[in-house]
Amino acid sequence: MPPPRTRGTALRHRLAELRGPDVPAKALDARALAALAANPGCKRRAILDGAGVNKAVLADALGSPSAFGQSQFAFMRGNAFEARVKADGGAELLRLVHEKLDPGAEPPTRARVPELTAIGPEGRAARTALALREATEAAAWTLLDHPMLALDVAGSPAFLEPDAVVVHPDGSWTVVEIKSFPMLDGSADPAKVGAAARQSAVYVLALEEVAARLDPTPRVRHRVLLVCPKDFSNLPTASAVDVRKQRAVTGRQLGRLTRIEDIADSLPEGTCFAPDRPAAELTAAVESVPAAYAPECLAACELAFHCRDHSRASGAVTTLGRSLRAELGDLTTVDEVLAAAHGQAGDPDDPAVAALRRAAELRAEALEGAAELRTAALKGAAELHLTALESATGGVPR
Ligand code: SF4
Repeated sequence: MPPPRTRGTALRHRLAELRGPDVPAKALDARALAALAANPGCKRRAILDGAGVNKAVLADALGSPSAFGQSQFAFMRGNAFEARVKADGGAELLRLVHEKLDPGAEPPTRARVPELTAIGPEGRAARTALALREATEAAAWTLLDHPMLALDVAGSPAFLEPDAVVVHPDGSWTVVEIKSFPMLDGSADPAKVGAAARQSAVYVLALEEVAARLDPTPRVRHRVLLVCPKDFSNLPTASAVDVRKQRAVTGRQLGRLTRIEDIADSLPEGTCFAPDRPAAELTAAVESVPAAYAPECLAACELAFHCRDHSRASGAVTTLGRSLRAELGDLTTVDEVLAAAHGQAGDPDDPAVAALRRAAELRAEALEGAAELRTAALKGAAELHLTALESATGGVPR
């Protein structure tokens, strides 16, 4: 077996081939990683993300443009709000961290804001690790603005950029997530808070990798600070969010991701996802990687419309939702399910097949009962109609 460095270079080379000549790699962000971890069975997403393929551009080239992503307006509003939160050396941001997460510590006055610029993501990640170590040793409030963290994902590093990380005087570290959705009376849309918590959990995992290399190992706090506009104003407010559960789930699922190297090795020679390839060739390339479509993909992956169309065309039951899929055991297509329900296929001792047959019987009985009721109702209505006619004509049929 070749040494790890040679294997790493070979993998990078292979992933660049899959992306296509001269196609720049799209960096994985925490939002994408959280979504990837939410669907760990999808090899298609794993290899596309691992190879740095821009899935939105790919979806366009496949003829199934995504409706997923952030609008330009929301993006600009988010940037303006973040700049406001971090203005004046991050004074307001640190005040919020102190108030919500560490009120027992000395109040932050003039926080350190280290310079984090360096060449390339690897250089920035190394610079961030050094700044974290120095801030921890200094035991002083420190704000790291847009640090760069590396997280090993399925055998290759993903570079992540949280909005901020704060080092407390006790040497512990906090992830700060700044969002532009409003917090009304101290609470925000639970779905958006949940997405922010999953994203923050990815940063916590990445920070823990950095912390593990230091001795003594600093504490990475599992309560992150979510900063949002207060009510409908542009003033920042914040809430502490406990991400222990999201961290545990995401960590477990990222660990279960099939190694990108194995997926790349299983693809046919010459496979390429470059968007300038003819649509038919591109479709064949994408379809050569197994996917695990579920309706949840519509809110999380740029390829959702493409995968949904192909999943529906193949009659896959996953289009009906993951919970139903889980209950159907070995039956993976709608045709198989119908054949099992009608007694034309399937092992009667299989609990899924037995449940389907019972459901089909109950449905048939219900339909029969409904037909009888309908006949009785029609008969009753006809009799009423006749009686009304007879009374209108004095009992003499016309
Ligand atoms: S949309 Fe397709 S590629 Fe994306 S996660 Fe779902 S199945 Fe995988």
